[in-house]
Amino acid sequence: MTRTLTILGATGSVGASTLDLIRRNRDAWRVEALTANGNVSELARLAREFGAAIAVIADEARLPELREALAGTGIEAAGGAQALCEAAARPVDLTVAAIVGGAGLAPVMAAVEQGGTIALANKEALVSAGEVMTAAVARHGATLLPMDSEHNAIFQCLAGNRIKDVARITLTASGGPFRAWSLEQMDAATPAQAVAHPNWDMGAKISVDSATMMNKGLEFIEAHHLFPVGLDRLRIIVHPQSVVHSLVEFRDRSTLAQLGPPDMRVPIASCLAWPGRMDTPMQPLDLAAIGQLSFFAPDEARFPATRLCREAIQAGGAAPAVLNAANEVAVAAFLSGQIAFTRIAAMVEETLTRYSPPAPGSLGEVFAIDREARVQTMLELN
Ligand code: NDP
Repeated sequence: MTRTLTILGATGSVGASTLDLIRRNRDAWRVEALTANGNVSELARLAREFGAAIAVIADEARLPELREALAGTGIEAAGGAQALCEAAARPVDLTVAAIVGGAGLAPVMAAVEQGGTIALANKEALVSAGEVMTAAVARHGATLLPMDSEHNAIFQCLAGNRIKDVARITLTASGGPFRAWSLEQMDAATPAQAVAHPNWDMGAKISVDSATMMNKGLEFIEAHHLFPVGLDRLRIIVHPQSVVHSLVEFRDRSTLAQLGPPDMRVPIASCLAWPGRMDTPMQPLDLAAIGQLSFFAPDEARFPATRLCREAIQAGGAAPAVLNAANEVAVAAFLSGQIAFTRIAAMVEETLTRYSPPAPGSLGEVFAIDREARVQTMLELN
């Protein structure tokens, strides 16, 4: 049976991995909408290859270019933030949410409001909107499938179990490219060094988040919303090989873990085929060749981001949205050479200290907090 699919952020790393699997299973899927921010040529190429019904470019100024690239194909072209949300609201069997950052929040919510099934890679949307999003998911009968490898691992370990039997959930972290670096070395780290992740091939923003360990902190918050076991039952452990993707310990002290190669196509396949399974092109896991798996406690003196995230979700309310927005500004500033690597977490902490608005009760309030937190963080750049 053919299923329908929309990919928000089709031109990115997660988008490409998803489409690689779809390409290998063309008869099983019909592509409804593909979206991008500014990469018109890649978006048009993918829309043509997969025969999408509509292609949407978020940067509206690029719409004429997209129209021209799709002329004569019968594929609808659209542009701008509103068009992105309208495309996300088209009914499909599965929406892959793979836009990077808070920019993904409005389209994800549009899909949620349709009561759709959403494979969520875009963790920033959930971190930022938190209870506003989880309440909307419940209200509209939507389904969130965790696509982040750690959360997908936890989701798989929880299958057939009861959440009330969970004693502890442990998120694994590779530790990123600077795992063994001193603070002095990290002070001088370049963007090229920060995005060179030892295990995963990902977009620039999440690669920097992995280097600061902010990614694991954001995932801690994401896990809190997806798996409501209580913050005191969530842990982070450093596991440099990225083979064990997370673990769930139950009250009888039995621990289940999910293992796999560090390739996003494994958790993506789990979401595409859910509740079943599908083939992937990856080699079987060869534990004898890997030899050793190691685990370490995180070092929050060198990597304060996980502490900031834990404190933000403990504080609750607007703090996670402020943290996420501040981090996006700081990461962009680092990538453009404006600040040192170690300033990223420092700027996030400064914004959290200076700006503490009341908890958002609606999506509009989340956006307002996000905007103001970005302004506040930018002031720190001057
Ligand atoms: P990329 O930077 O590779 O891709 C981002 C995608 O979002 C692109 O399609 C990009 O379009 C689009 N986009 C960027 N900005 C906007 C905007 N303002 N409005 C609309 N669309 C936009 O990111 P990744 O694929 O690495 O990550 C995507 C999400 O998945 C992130 O939230 C990340 O944390 C999460 N994730 C990623 C993993 C990975 O392995 N990469 C693993 C787990 C989670 P364009 O190409 O035109 O710029």
